[in-house]
Amino acid sequence: MRRKRNVKILATLGPASNTPETVRALFRAGADVFRINMSHTDADGLAARVAMIRAIEAEMGRPIGILADLQGPKLRVGVLEDGAVVLEKDTAFTFDLDPAPGNRGRVPLPHKEIFQILKPGMMLLVDDGKLRLEVESASAEAARVRVRVGGKLSNRKGVNVPDGVLPIPALTMKDRADLDAALNAGVDWIALSFVQRPEDVAEARKMIAGRAGVLAKIEKPAALTLLPEILEIADALMVARGDLGVELPLEQVPGRQKQIVRMARKAGKPVVVATQMLESMITNPVPTRAEASDVATAVFEGADAIMLSAESASGQYPVEAVTMMDRIAVEVEHDPHYRSIIDAQRAEPEENSAPDAIMAAARQVAETLDAAVIVSWTSSGSTGLRAARERPGVPIIALSPVTRTARRLALAWGLHCVVTEDAHDLDDLVDRACRLAFAEGFAQSGQRVVVTAGVPLGTPGATNMLRIAMAGTAGRGTFATD
Ligand code: PGA
Ligand code: MN
Repeated sequence: MRRKRNVKILATLGPASNTPETVRALFRAGADVFRINMSHTDADGLAARVAMIRAIEAEMGRPIGILADLQGPKLRVGVLEDGAVVLEKDTAFTFDLDPAPGNRGRVPLPHKEIFQILKPGMMLLVDDGKLRLEVESASAEAARVRVRVGGKLSNRKGVNVPDGVLPIPALTMKDRADLDAALNAGVDWIALSFVQRPEDVAEARKMIAGRAGVLAKIEKPAALTLLPEILEIADALMVARGDLGVELPLEQVPGRQKQIVRMARKAGKPVVVATQMLESMITNPVPTRAEASDVATAVFEGADAIMLSAESASGQYPVEAVTMMDRIAVEVEHDPHYRSIIDAQRAEPEENSAPDAIMAAARQVAETLDAAVIVSWTSSGSTGLRAARERPGVPIIALSPVTRTARRLALAWGLHCVVTEDAHDLDDLVDRACRLAFAEGFAQSGQRVVVTAGVPLGTPGATNMLRIAMAGTAGRGTFATD
């Protein structure tokens, strides 16, 4: 099975996509990676979903990526006497640490870390920013707030504090347990929510110890100020527009999206654009024109992946949403403007990097010769990502002897990942690349194939060879010609 686009589709699973039939249909429609949101899943639910996806992966014969998204330090108010209270504009009330149910005069906010950073003038945003509360005075246990934008406040609604860096560890107790469960289940990517500083990523990275890729969700203004440092230590980024759009003035989100995508592309690390891409498809079988345009913008910008949240997790049209995303992406990538926009943002090869030099050459050779495909051998995945970083105008097959590598690379732009046994020698390496290019439907017999690899074999990150060969169906040695 071959996709007709470079950008990847990440689909969140949930109650609307819990059966093997739906997951299979989502994969067939175009989902390359599945997200399991640990805000709504326990360890058993996670293990069951991973097993289901792996069974479908075996059936389809294609590597599928799985991303476990940790909830992170999401702050919430406590409970209220009547389940809810209506807050009138310009009235005032107190937040405190007392767990007793709240009322019009006081509301429990069971996070002592918040009170440590509150200062008069700071804003607290509640329920995705629907309510805005300004701090008038604060101590270590309580804060007096004035309602600037009022409305109904109900039990356990989320609280955002955009103006401060919270002295909270990146991983809560729940996150640590979920992380263990996710690694035991063998997921390919771990997403970290509400990353504030590079140290947050470093801490998770230490615990993950290479067993999965580490994706930092950018959804806090604090993270934007340390973006280069966070990118340096993370394996991938997400433009998490849901919370980012609450914590930042909404009009700043599009520019930030461009900034984050470009920075990640330059570094050669996968970047995902997420949230509300086809929001209206939660309840409608077709999206709005604005949503179609939003998906197109991310594809034109060269993002590695575009994501569906509630559309595929709890909406009425999960398969239709993936199908629609796929159709928009395919159309955009065939648009006459697509190539020039993608090429305009291509980063120069990193100095003194043999893999980058080889990949830049491979792209040029492939484009000059009108080759059918670039085939890159990659064991750790690092060379695969450098191939993707070039954003070439010809397709890329990432060949790996490591199943986990192929699954992880499912998130990366343009990589068609294939698992194959390790090559015995140089001839075998080139032969196998050519045979697979044909078998996977990327090249016809006699078409040129550009092969890259590291010689001697089996040294990770040591790509130093480029070979021009010919695709074919015949036995070994008869079709791989220089
Ligand atoms: P969430 O993250 O869906 O876990 O909140 C994505 C976002 O905030 O956009
Ligand atoms: Mn979020």
